[in-house]
Amino acid sequence: MTRTSKMAMALTGVALFSGIALLSQTNLPPLPDIRVFKVDPEKYPEVVRKVQGQIMVVAGAGSQVSVLPGDSGLLIVDDQYKEMSPKLLAAIKTISAKPIRYAINTHMHPDHMGGNEAIAMLGATIFAHDNVRIRLMGGLPPGAAPAPNPAGGRGGAAPAPTPAIALPVVTFSDPINLHYNGEEIAIVPSPKPSHTDGDAFIYFKTSDVLAMGDVYTTDYPAINPGNGGTSQNVIDDWNYALDHFIGPNTKIVPGHGQISTRADLIALRDATIAIRERFRKMVKDGMTLDQVKAARPTKEFDQRFALENVGHNEIVSTDAWYGIMYNEAKNGQ
Ligand SMILES: [Zn+2]
Repeated sequence: MTRTSKMAMALTGVALFSGIALLSQTNLPPLPDIRVFKVDPEKYPEVVRKVQGQIMVVAGAGSQVSVLPGDSGLLIVDDQYKEMSPKLLAAIKTISAKPIRYAINTHMHPDHMGGNEAIAMLGATIFAHDNVRIRLMGGLPPGAAPAPNPAGGRGGAAPAPTPAIALPVVTFSDPINLHYNGEEIAIVPSPKPSHTDGDAFIYFKTSDVLAMGDVYTTDYPAINPGNGGTSQNVIDDWNYALDHFIGPNTKIVPGHGQISTRADLIALRDATIAIRERFRKMVKDGMTLDQVKAARPTKEFDQRFALENVGHNEIVSTDAWYGIMYNEAKNGQ
């Protein structure tokens, strides 16, 4: 047994007692990827891990949370489900006892902004896209059609009602830069509606880490047709990120799933393009959705990207994704 694996085992032992594991070795177990309707915090330990440079990640249930600690306090990106707040705050404290000064929501979904209330109560300032605030207040952004599936899922419904203290205080629809703890941070709205109409990328330039929210999860793309999302819009957003932020050494923190590299995102992009071509061909050949499902046009990609193989997900399934891809092909998108 190597020194490193002994150390990892020792830390895992600590994790059993504290529910929190602080690990920075290679060959680590996957980060938790838990997406559920009913959150039982007892069941989900928080894992703390170094990403690169100054950036850490906390993963429990809901979004992966990027953390920038430093002398001036902490800045975090996304804050999991509301129910996880006590455990999330405890996990963040293991990184630094300094106060959380800033929290940025990558978008409006409750698994990414549910912790806003607890964090704002501690004095943090919340940042998010203009449309996040509008939707959290129950409104519709200018020009937006009501989501056809307001019950949630990937239909784009915001949690309601959102207490005033949990609302973003600083909102944006153009890129902004923050300078904090020696880190240069670009907050850039994603150019196309893909996951929602209020997604933002957060690029930690100094550490070369990009948080992509749910525009990139490490499974088949989370397209929301209810917010104008299409597979092409997702691909356009990915290409924008590849062109503007993601270099050979960049580490990507996805909205859900595992820390990734440029090669991982390109693999998912190319798989999505290949799968979409197959859907188009099958629809052109007159196949029904059931026939397409039986033909399994995703088969050689499923091991790596099917939701069921990469995390615990009660909110969406590959089956539902087939429906979205099939409808797109049918509508000529
Ligand atoms: Zn989301």
